[in-house]
Amino acid sequence: MKNMVRNYDGGITAFPAQLVSPCNVAEIQSILKDVGRYPGPVRAMGSYHSLTPCASSDGTIINMSGMNRTLEIDPKKMTFTAEAGLQFIVASRTLRAQNLQFLTNIEIGNMTLGAAACCHTKDGLDGGEFGQVGSYITGIKWVTPSGDLAEASDANNPALLHFMRSSYGLCGVVYEVTFRIKPLEAIQFSYLPRPIKDLTEKEVDRIIDASKGLICWTVGRRAHFQTRKHVDQVGPFASLFAAGRRRLWNHTEARVGRFIDSRIPTKPLRNASLDAWFAGSKLLMSTLKLVGGATLYNPDKTIDYSRTPSSAKYAFTFWAFPRSQWLDALREYLEFSEKHFKKYDFRCNMPLGSYFIRKDTQSILSYTHDGDVFSIDPIHAYTDKPAWDRFLKEFNEFAYKKNGIPLLNQSPFVERRHVEAAYGARWKQFSVQVKAADPQQRMLNPFFADLLSE
Ligand SMILES: Cc1cc2nc3c(=O)[nH]c(=O)nc-3n(C[C@H](O)[C@H](O)[C@H](O)COP(=O)(O)OP(=O)(O)OC[C@H]3O[C@@H](n4cnc5c(N)ncnc54)[C@H](O)[C@@H]3O)c2cc1C
Repeated sequence: MKNMVRNYDGGITAFPAQLVSPCNVAEIQSILKDVGRYPGPVRAMGSYHSLTPCASSDGTIINMSGMNRTLEIDPKKMTFTAEAGLQFIVASRTLRAQNLQFLTNIEIGNMTLGAAACCHTKDGLDGGEFGQVGSYITGIKWVTPSGDLAEASDANNPALLHFMRSSYGLCGVVYEVTFRIKPLEAIQFSYLPRPIKDLTEKEVDRIIDASKGLICWTVGRRAHFQTRKHVDQVGPFASLFAAGRRRLWNHTEARVGRFIDSRIPTKPLRNASLDAWFAGSKLLMSTLKLVGGATLYNPDKTIDYSRTPSSAKYAFTFWAFPRSQWLDALREYLEFSEKHFKKYDFRCNMPLGSYFIRKDTQSILSYTHDGDVFSIDPIHAYTDKPAWDRFLKEFNEFAYKKNGIPLLNQSPFVERRHVEAAYGARWKQFSVQVKAADPQQRMLNPFFADLLSE
């Protein structure tokens, strides 16, 4: 039977000639050296939670799940070193047992540390300093396309580390990573609901400047700013709140949206049901504001999606907009999505996310290299994949025209003209460096071949 690989929501499938799961670095070296037995493109794969075919290959896919050991926790240097196939949630639990945590406690617990080291990531709520997980990587070790060993760290070759943090497996397979860590922290979430028509750019600026981390949830025509701050200790309902939040994201939110779209028989009833469900979400966030928000331990933000049933899975896209253009882009997005709904009878059945991420020049493809950004992330539990795909493509056109910046693993249907416009000279430089690192194109799959500049 043919090897088959599927991403998280099953929207992407690949049929590699070879699907291998190495247990140590020597095995990765033999795979990369043996061109006859392991045909290219050779792609490393973490948990394949990406929403684009970035890990796909019909040649060789290296499943990194067999390399998942924690190698060292150094409480003096405050660093954590592990093999690249270790999932974030498992690493986070190991640290938690020693009252430690990552600096960015990203929501996606199943992301592998290898992917975190070399791909785009975002976390608004822990974005006090950086909102990209890879920015806290202090060292990476990898196997080059020709099977040799290489490494870069903050201390030894920071310029190469700057490039590797965006390398997406195009320059070899990452097998070991070191992260900065810090003591376990208690945090508080606060909620501020605001009608979008009343918002001004000045007010958005004030909210951003006053927060240590920020996400905005738009439901209907109301924006709910969720901010976080440090607290000395968590309140009595902290674990209940964290468990409820996890339940909402890996069970209830998507399942209800999908149920309404697939089971409610008539269009007016469907619309009324979705409006009622959205009204419930608004009420929840207004109630959280009334009770003064909620506290939790920071790593409890991370969610384990490994047992999420198909009915509760969701998909999304992410485009970042320069901070000063976000409010305008958000208002125009609402017009765009309402027009799309009228034309095609399609609308997203989950709240719209927006992540605020600060300027960060730690990697060549940092999407905040030129300044702070605020994103627009339509989220949807699809029952009609072609309708969702059509929405995504039209949204890409909208976002591209509004100076949006896409991510290579989280913006489905991303194209070369999008990345060339968004990343400018850095995209050209990245393309040149990738070609120099892999002249035989051993790691280059069709997805990246289409994206890289000539
Ligand atoms: C439900 C859900 C929620 C999500 N939430 C978030 C979120 O909050 N924040 C966020 O940033 N993202 C989020 N994502 C997106 C996703 O987690 C990221 O795209 C992340 O990269 C996935 O990690 P992974 O281990 O699954 O990598 P994969 O998808 O397997 O791979 C991603 C890329 O990295 C390369 N790669 C993987 N491992 C290695 C390695 N060892 N060496 C070299 N290259 C490698 C692959 O070839 C591929 O190009 C979410 C996705 C889903 C489905």
